[in-house]
Amino acid sequence: MSYLPNSLQGRDLRYLLHPVTNARAHERNGPLVIARGEGIFVYDDAGKDYIEGLAGLWSVGLGFSEKRLVDAAKRQLDVLPYMHLFASKSQQPAIELAEKLVQMTPEGLDRVHFTNSGSEANDTVVKMVWFYNNAIGRLEKKKFIGRHKGYHGITIAAGSLTGIPANHKGFDLPLDFVRHVTTPHHYRFANEGETEEQFSDRLAAELEETILAEGPETVAAFIGEPLMGAGGVLPPPKGYWEKIQAVCRKYDVLIVADEVINGFGRTGKMFACETYDIKPDILVVSKQITSSYQPLAAIVFSDKIYQGIADGSESLGTFGHGYTTSGHPVATAVGLENLKIIEERNLVENARRMGQILRDGLAKYADHPCVGEIRGEGLIAAIEFVQDKATKAPFLPAGKAAQAVAAAAQANGLILRAIGEAICFCPPMIITEAEMHELLARFDRAMAEAFAPAD
Ligand code: PMP
Repeated sequence: MSYLPNSLQGRDLRYLLHPVTNARAHERNGPLVIARGEGIFVYDDAGKDYIEGLAGLWSVGLGFSEKRLVDAAKRQLDVLPYMHLFASKSQQPAIELAEKLVQMTPEGLDRVHFTNSGSEANDTVVKMVWFYNNAIGRLEKKKFIGRHKGYHGITIAAGSLTGIPANHKGFDLPLDFVRHVTTPHHYRFANEGETEEQFSDRLAAELEETILAEGPETVAAFIGEPLMGAGGVLPPPKGYWEKIQAVCRKYDVLIVADEVINGFGRTGKMFACETYDIKPDILVVSKQITSSYQPLAAIVFSDKIYQGIADGSESLGTFGHGYTTSGHPVATAVGLENLKIIEERNLVENARRMGQILRDGLAKYADHPCVGEIRGEGLIAAIEFVQDKATKAPFLPAGKAAQAVAAAAQANGLILRAIGEAICFCPPMIITEAEMHELLARFDRAMAEAFAPAD
């Protein structure tokens, strides 16, 4: 190892293969070891502070030191550290959180199933939809349609729904049951002179053509993040969801809204389905459901789907799907407390207000020669860099500018995420106005350094 942070002197770093990491680059450069957290800040093992501008992995809504979540976990660990939900066993936190999710999610979502991660949740969605369609006798209706740049996780089925080449390459994905359609990103994919509405019309027509080409009797569901996150923070173009939903309804294709990043306030409303007027049959949430203090995800779905699955579970003898830790009592207890805090402190409103300050702060880069697009919604935003503003030509090699900005930000005590040509912002929802100005000040320094003329 060429580099060892303070707390790791004498340790052997070879044993840990990091997820979503270039292992050879990691060997060369070593890790950034985060030792503790407080509010929106994390501290490395040398004591340097960083604003966590991506809230971990878009997920730590309540920041890194919420004592009430710690206490909720402790209380549950004291009383009942584990009980599963198989074969009609149950426990209170899972029952209560299911009820809470049905109450707070948009109308028409009446049943809940828990998993441990967003990937497991989307894998489970595929299996639930297959089981449902088998139960109601639609034996052929099994295909899913996702979008290029969509992110739904990395397990075999969820990884197939994902439309990002880096998650497919080398893994023999996607599987054959998935088709991907165009990314709803007007700036990059609209034709010359095409308005957002016209672009949305074209994408809805593409969806319809895809369904017809496959045969509507074979297409089970359309899955999308209301606002795409890991594809680079892409809010939908005007009219997109209205038109997409109309096509899905026409061919009896279920709508799955993946709100693993969007959910619980991120877009300025409790759910992005409210922000974009989406009426899904299935809603997937995770991440901010516990502020990632515990691993947990939930699938919230319609009574109609439940009835089909329930019938199937009787005729087959069981609904043979679940994990040892599905609905884990400590995770669901933390989830309940987390949602209570989001409501009590009105953090959705805070996300909306702070997001406005963030986007106002970023807007000053609109005339920067290397800034192509500034985008966002609520408290999630991105800047896309271009080498040439007029032609929108990206930097070469791909991602160079965004990575340089992310590195300069980290040196200046701000953790952001570079995705392709974009630098992404998604700070904890507890962020205050003063802290947002500090975040923007650190970003300004990073921009100045990253784009400083070479000596
Ligand atoms: N869906 C979306 C929209 C996500 O953003 C993510 C994670 N970034 C996932 C699913 C997968 O979640 P997990 O990493 O918990 O498996």
